[in-house]
Amino acid sequence: MTKVDLHLHTTCSDGRLTPTQMVELVAERGLQVVAITDHDSTEGLAVVFEVAKRFPQLSIIPGIELSTDIPGNEIHVLGYFIDYSDADFQRTLREFRDGRVGRAREMVDKLAALGLPVDWERVLELAEGTVGRPHIAQAMVEKGYITYPQEAFTKYLGRNGLAYAEREKLTPAEAVRLITGVGGIPVLAHPREVDNVESLLPGLKAAGLVGMEVHYGTYSPSEVKGFAAMAKRHGLIACGGSDYHALGTPGEVEPGSVGPPLETAEKLYALAGETAKLGQ
Ligand code: AMP
Ligand code: ZN
Ligand code: FE
Ligand code: FE
Repeated sequence: MTKVDLHLHTTCSDGRLTPTQMVELVAERGLQVVAITDHDSTEGLAVVFEVAKRFPQLSIIPGIELSTDIPGNEIHVLGYFIDYSDADFQRTLREFRDGRVGRAREMVDKLAALGLPVDWERVLELAEGTVGRPHIAQAMVEKGYITYPQEAFTKYLGRNGLAYAEREKLTPAEAVRLITGVGGIPVLAHPREVDNVESLLPGLKAAGLVGMEVHYGTYSPSEVKGFAAMAKRHGLIACGGSDYHALGTPGEVEPGSVGPPLETAEKLYALAGETAKLGQ
């Protein structure tokens, strides 16, 4: 068990627990520092901080996860301690979310053309916040086309899937700068999912990247070791978390089962110039 989990999703994006339920769950599990990192949205954070007042031992980092693209690869960038009250930042996030709606519609149309119609209204209903491929996958589960959402990714919604559609995305360096622009700490998410990830690190570091995920969801001990060494080589802080979405799929990694040590959280708090409730 760990005390730190820096990657969690709620119903504000494609997670299944509300922000309130998520805070209650991580508090119950005795976590001390967590980051809420919804895709392209900080809509849950106000409630998160309100509910967190009930749990004095729990520190919460305001976070975000941005999707970016380079040719042939999808790269996610996490941002911690962002000033989410920034109006320009919020406008940009709204644009990202709007772009997702058109793209989701396109994928739903492609599925229909493949003989797998799902109800567009149902997809929008499942997406209480940022709409994403998992909501389409869930609509496919409800239709009985598949048993678990991940099956939709393999054949239809993954990057090379039959119903995949693209949307305008930032480059990873632009995402890094967007995050530092609102006082945040940018961290590269799930590096195993990126081809030749190490070749990207010098450029991203120059753009302002501070950390990368190492202690991540399903990574094996040897993968964690390898990414820890990579982070060290590039002077990046080794972060991580469960990337919990509460989907209920077999083997889903739960909050508190994987994450960096408490000292890492302390380092992030020190960098952000903030004080955690650590050790209180
Ligand atoms: P989107 O935000 O629409 O690009 O969808 C990305 C999200 O889909 C990720 O954050 C994951 O939650 C989920 N996802 C990506 N790949 C898979 C997969 N192979 N199986 C299940 N869920 C996935
Ligand atoms: Zn997600
Ligand atoms: Fe991600
Ligand atoms: Fe994530």
